[in-house]
Amino acid sequence: MQSPPVDDMSDIYDLVIVGGGPVGSALSLMLARAGLRIAVLEARKPVPVSGDGRTLALSYGSRLILERAGAWPEALQPTPIQTVHVSQRGGFGRAVLRASEMGVPALGYTVSYNSLSNVLSDSLRETSVEYMWDATVVRVEPAVGETLIDAQFAAAPRRLRARLAVLADGGRGVLAQPHAAEAVASMRVKDYAQHALTTLVRSQHPHNGCAYERFTPDGPTALLPVRDRFALVWVAKQAQSERLLGLSDSAFLAELQQQFGDRQGRFLEVGARAAFPLSLRYAREIALPGVVRVGNAAQALHPVAAQGFNIGLRDAWGLSRLLLQSGPHALHGAALARAYVRARRMDRAVGIGLSDFLARVFEIDRPLVRSARGAGLWLLASGAPLRRAFTRAMMFGSSR
Ligand SMILES: Cc1cc2nc3c(=O)[nH]c(=O)nc-3n(C[C@H](O)[C@H](O)[C@H](O)COP(=O)(O)OP(=O)(O)OC[C@H]3O[C@@H](n4cnc5c(N)ncnc54)[C@H](O)[C@@H]3O)c2cc1C
Repeated sequence: MQSPPVDDMSDIYDLVIVGGGPVGSALSLMLARAGLRIAVLEARKPVPVSGDGRTLALSYGSRLILERAGAWPEALQPTPIQTVHVSQRGGFGRAVLRASEMGVPALGYTVSYNSLSNVLSDSLRETSVEYMWDATVVRVEPAVGETLIDAQFAAAPRRLRARLAVLADGGRGVLAQPHAAEAVASMRVKDYAQHALTTLVRSQHPHNGCAYERFTPDGPTALLPVRDRFALVWVAKQAQSERLLGLSDSAFLAELQQQFGDRQGRFLEVGARAAFPLSLRYAREIALPGVVRVGNAAQALHPVAAQGFNIGLRDAWGLSRLLLQSGPHALHGAALARAYVRARRMDRAVGIGLSDFLARVFEIDRPLVRSARGAGLWLLASGAPLRRAFTRAMMFGSSR
């Protein structure tokens, strides 16, 4: 039988952040100089993250946020995205979004999930934030005036107390239901029955900072510029994805060529392949007194619009601004929870709605729908005000 957690009543934090992934670490950095006592509990062992095949496209707005948090080191080796080219297979219409049109140095940047996670958690070493590895939180329970956080540490179970617990665990479900509002405690889930296959590929022609998104009835295919390669995100039905994972390199490159065409010349090399099952998961509300959700713990999106981390970072930024304004004694209050829900409502709704819409609408393979999609792309291509508004929302999110 598991021993009960050691409850040191003096172990009281202003903030306990559950999960030291990219969003939890970024939030800690934003608050590191606020004079708060902060602990981050991370389930992983203290070794660098490796082996995650994801490349993340960070928006220009995310770069500005990370810079203000002092967390945009060149160690990230970001590759700028100057142009995004959007098209659909078997239908007319294509749109091109350009950094030059928006007056910004880049629409966004690509970084690897591994280096982003490592750089952010390493940056916390020079701060007073207590980043605890090998600490798996098993239960978070809001109580009167404080929140209880039970965690399994390498040595023993332990109970921490905090004015505010921030769930940044990617949505794995540690919030105790009986005492938490249903809309905050549970996640709505929609399985897309698709996988995202990720890898790096080298093409005959240089990318020149151009990213491609090509919609097909099986799912979207994205190529993102990364140093001298492209990161490929190939969304397909599960069986198709498993088949693609099992192909030899040359057979895989041949299928990719067929899928994508010859805009970049021939595809010459492919790296290690990985696949991620895709679903939409989100909490209807993201806060109650003593507990808030950020990042994938609040909403995990289909990667079609490359918004998951970007929106999660804006959760962290919005929350950090409210915490800095309100001061330590308001951390457990209902007013703070309400203000956070209000501040994030519009951006979340647009992010969830847009990614779900794009994931579904390009799957429908009927002539009328194809034409409507083509018309949408044509509108985006020919209407500069619409295109600029869309690009701005992709870079900075949507506010009230
Ligand atoms: C194929 C793919 C491509 C993507 N591309 C993009 C993109 O281009 N742009 C973009 O913005 N987003 C993208 N995303 C989404 C992005 O990866 C996520 O939104 C982002 O990783 C969320 O970060 P997070 O810190 O909230 O959660 P996570 O990255 O899931 O981190 C959660 C952390 O919490 C820890 N943890 C979990 N449970 C516990 C526990 N019980 N106790 C303690 N610690 C715990 C985990 O070990 C982990 O370190 C993509 C996703 C996929 C699958």
